[in-house]
Amino acid sequence: MVIKNHSLSFNISLEQILYITVQNLDYPVICPICNYEVKIRDSKRRYIKDETGQKIPLNLKRYYCSRCNKLHTEIPDIIEPYKQYDSLTIEKVKSGDISSFAGDDSTIRNWQRKK
Ligand SMILES: [Zn+2]
Repeated sequence: MVIKNHSLSFNISLEQILYITVQNLDYPVICPICNYEVKIRDSKRRYIKDETGQKIPLNLKRYYCSRCNKLHTEIPDIIEPYKQYDSLTIEKVKSGDISSFAGDDSTIRNWQRKK
């Protein structure tokens, strides 16, 4: 489930991001399938890469819907589902700005093709 209304807290040490915690600002959290109120289950760690290729851990909450028996992971809209990079980096590369992008050429071609 992609959430738009969120805040991010950055845990930083020595100017390096250790991990990012995502806080959903909408309450209650609603199941995207059946619109029933979901309960928090646990959290899951996912990694995104910034444009330099550095991996940053994201703590994402998982919710359980007791009506449809499904687990939902909260994905903030700064990252696109099933992509490794954050949306900002993807948009930059798509628009032709690859000056600070450290990914490989096939990734760049792949994104630019899907404009
Ligand atoms: Zn449900």
